[in-house]
Amino acid sequence: MKYLALADADRVQDYVFSPPQLRYIRGASYLQSKAIEEIRDAHPGAILFANGGVVLADFSSPQGAEEFCSRANAIFGVTTGSGTVSTACVKYDEAHFLQGWKRVRDAVESAKRQRANLHGPGTHSFWVSCERCGSEPAKDLVSEPEQPGLAVCSTCRRKYDAHGRSRALSGFRHPEHFEELARLSSPSNYLALVYIDIDRLGKYLDRHVRTRDDCASLSEAIDNAVRNAVNEAGRRAAAGPGKHQTEPDIQPFMTLLAGGDDAIVMLAAHLAVPFLRYFRQEFERPHYWEGRDIPFFSVGLVYANHHLPIGAFVEAARQRYRFAKTRKDFHSVAFSLVTSSLVDDPETTPKPTNNPYDLDDFLLFGEAISRLKAMGAPRSKIHQLYEMAWKLPLPGEFEYLGLLLRLPQATRAEIRKTIGHTLWTVDSSGLPRTRAADLVELWEFVHA
Ligand SMILES: [Zn+2]
Repeated sequence: MKYLALADADRVQDYVFSPPQLRYIRGASYLQSKAIEEIRDAHPGAILFANGGVVLADFSSPQGAEEFCSRANAIFGVTTGSGTVSTACVKYDEAHFLQGWKRVRDAVESAKRQRANLHGPGTHSFWVSCERCGSEPAKDLVSEPEQPGLAVCSTCRRKYDAHGRSRALSGFRHPEHFEELARLSSPSNYLALVYIDIDRLGKYLDRHVRTRDDCASLSEAIDNAVRNAVNEAGRRAAAGPGKHQTEPDIQPFMTLLAGGDDAIVMLAAHLAVPFLRYFRQEFERPHYWEGRDIPFFSVGLVYANHHLPIGAFVEAARQRYRFAKTRKDFHSVAFSLVTSSLVDDPETTPKPTNNPYDLDDFLLFGEAISRLKAMGAPRSKIHQLYEMAWKLPLPGEFEYLGLLLRLPQATRAEIRKTIGHTLWTVDSSGLPRTRAADLVELWEFVHA
């Protein structure tokens, strides 16, 4: 009999995205992965994998496994400040690794549920709150270049101190603020948040993992594929043409979280579509998968002005991601442009759309928009498509035909190919779909 021990970071996104300033997010993301590496390094020989906020280790005695759990808690707390991990250990039979692994994951889940119940609303009126996160007592000072002498809590201090330690890609420096990143975008001041996660990972692992070695190698393969694909896609998108080239030393994207099976990346808005193209190419390279089938991933993509708070940005992208995940058996993406009116009034009628897209189809859609721009399709006429999509189907169709007739011949042919002979189509499940409003939303962010 052996013992599996698992440590899994709690509420990673709450830890990383508060406070919402880019430097703190970058520092928090760095500290979070550093803590996981430290847990790994403290148990040489026992580790099966350590990535994406999770460490799995294997011991021949219950004492070894229990020691791992308490050490993991201590290390994580010391390195991250207020971050915590949930841990569990279970006895297992080596001939049935998969069962043991499932049991230890279930045990950690139930530990997390218990911990979540302990989090009360908390009233702390008796101390001065941190000027950054607002949720812990201020105990320290931070001097940001723009704002010297901020009273902050010890966790925020730690995050701020770590922000310079995560490395930009070679030849670049990190943007200091979301605003600086948005300046590199065309149109200016817009950002795109990409939220990527592998679909049905549990089922995928069940199919491919039999032994502890399978578990270790597959976990590493997935982590490598996601992280390398993010870096490679960012690097290639940054090498392409665009407004970001006016300040070529600033990295025009920021990986906010990446590892394990997911990634959250903020980009200058016009780089999102090329980023997804390159991400997919790198992710599918056969050397990661060694003959196994390649898992599908889903993407939530949100465009918004840089004033949108990061929490709202991430939440909108997560919702798009969940929608994308409803399409099975291929890589998929759902996107939207978030405007302040949408944030203020979530009850707004949803946009008529063709979301979620098969990723291939979405990339082709992007290429069609590039061609339309290259052939000089008149922007004002293209924008009329947006209004049409909101009309009742019949008047909408009439206006669509009218518009097609008024367009130059080449543009008309391309629009017909992209949207269709009619404004609306019916998909295989009988639902009406249109790309007209999607095309107008993407129009500004895709270049010729
Ligand atoms: Zn704080």
